[in-house]
Amino acid sequence: MSAIANKTTLLKKHFGFDTFRPNQEAIVNDLLAKKDLLAIMPTGGGKSLCFQLPALMMQGTAIVVSPLIALMKDQVDALQANGISAAFYNSSQSASLQNEVIEQLYNQKIKLLYVAPESLNLLLPNLKEEHICLFAIDEAHCISAWGHDFRPAYTQLGKLKKQFPKIPVAAFTATADVATQDDIAQQLQIPSAKKHLASFDRKNLFLEVRPGTQRLPQILKFLKNKKEESGIIYCLSRKNTEKIAQKLVEKGFEAQAYHAGLSSEKRSEIQDDFVNDRTPIIVATIAFGMGIDKSNVRWVIHYNMPKNIEGYYQEIGRSGRDGLPSNTLLFYSFADVIQLRQFTEDSPNQEFQLAKLDRMQQYSEALSCRRIALLNYFGEHVAEDCGNCDNCKTPPQFFDGTILAQKICSAVYRLKEQEPINMVVDVLRGSKNAQVFSKAYQKIKTYGVAKDVAWLDVQQYVIQLINQGVLEIRFHEKGRLLLTPLAKEILFNGKKVKLATLQTKVKSVAKETVNQAETEGLFDSLKQLRLSIAKEENVPAYVVF
Ligand code: ADP
Ligand code: MG
Ligand code: ZN
Repeated sequence: MSAIANKTTLLKKHFGFDTFRPNQEAIVNDLLAKKDLLAIMPTGGGKSLCFQLPALMMQGTAIVVSPLIALMKDQVDALQANGISAAFYNSSQSASLQNEVIEQLYNQKIKLLYVAPESLNLLLPNLKEEHICLFAIDEAHCISAWGHDFRPAYTQLGKLKKQFPKIPVAAFTATADVATQDDIAQQLQIPSAKKHLASFDRKNLFLEVRPGTQRLPQILKFLKNKKEESGIIYCLSRKNTEKIAQKLVEKGFEAQAYHAGLSSEKRSEIQDDFVNDRTPIIVATIAFGMGIDKSNVRWVIHYNMPKNIEGYYQEIGRSGRDGLPSNTLLFYSFADVIQLRQFTEDSPNQEFQLAKLDRMQQYSEALSCRRIALLNYFGEHVAEDCGNCDNCKTPPQFFDGTILAQKICSAVYRLKEQEPINMVVDVLRGSKNAQVFSKAYQKIKTYGVAKDVAWLDVQQYVIQLINQGVLEIRFHEKGRLLLTPLAKEILFNGKKVKLATLQTKVKSVAKETVNQAETEGLFDSLKQLRLSIAKEENVPAYVVF
């Protein structure tokens, strides 16, 4: 039987599918050819099959590194149900059970072995090349401190390539911005790994952001006529999950709170009720949803703003997996921004986290197509507005911003794409501050060309250009701004740019939510108070810090 026939036969026989999804076949082929690779595919895109199928076709066992012990068992059960021999190896097992698994591995009894990164150290000394066909690193973004979910145990995975240079290493993730992608390959010691970048677009998800005021009444209105539909409300605090769930129950909805403070029995019970359509609504902290395979989630609401776009994208991605229209609604409030900033305070990579939070805030404040902003973040450039987001449905007022955009782009260009937003704005506005003078930027041609526009407004226009994919932020490199190919079209080929008229929309969000923050008692430090003043007074934050 030819390899091709074999592949599709096995696809049908073990998985019941007639065709491959985008990128799956190319990845399978690379692994069969023993090539290292990095696959960036959205949640639900079918990453598992990419290493499960080659495992069936190659000599030896596929070692799958997976971060969640809780999910390993499910995966192994699912494989066994499909007639594939599989096992897992982690710290939840007794020593004798672990030995049994190793025995099976040596005797070539299993095609796939799921291992927690923390348990690799126990396994590695006993492993021999002839036992293994490939290494699959699931949730590979956990290896990068630049990623959004860093796991120290992942950093030792570079050892795999060192110890087994001939065995292909395949890294899989659903969320990695461009710089994180490179970091993953470098740390896994697979610098020449081929990148398989699947589209991140989930066209069926309606993207909507609203000011975070009067959230509960808004949610009740949103849920009108949705009583039977499955949905998830994400909150920052455990307390809020309980409070909101209770309020919904009082209003006649079936809702349950879910958070890490509940016992594991309770949690799996709630999860079961949700998956089997017994409880339609879950009000949860971000602890909920990882690995839940439920296709008919019709809506996701973010009661609070997520801390970065990766998290947001993953969470909204839990809706509409069946491809049917689904709604996502994010409540954006300045109070959340402040609280999230606080959360980063003890973090070793605070700088990245703050930068990612800024991007999340910029997305929330976007006035142009949200899908374009979202996809650009993951390195995917699309030209057309999506027609399925709030800004596409009810566009703000636009003006021909070509000249202003040209000024901004040319400032970025003349600053050699080395400076972050604030400096670019300072130069455009002709600011006379020490930072500008110390670098002699007052001599640059674009110095002061936008001095008639308010500081905060210039900043907003720059953010609009980022959201439109004209400029790119490298937040791993001090937030410097870069020109994308689109910017070059604008600068050199006369491409037109629409900019949204800045009216009260953005400003009113800040104002209203500041009031709300006060009532929620969030302003207990001077720093926060200053931040709110900065926003209210329309001056950049560093002015008051
Ligand atoms: P990911 O790990 O990328 O989030 P999974 O590997 O869990 O995604 O797959 C998501 C769903 O897609 C699963 O239900 C899986 O059975 C299904 N699936 C995977 N490949 C195919 C395919 N080629 N055709 C149809 N369904 C597929
Ligand atoms: Mg997966
Ligand atoms: Zn859109």
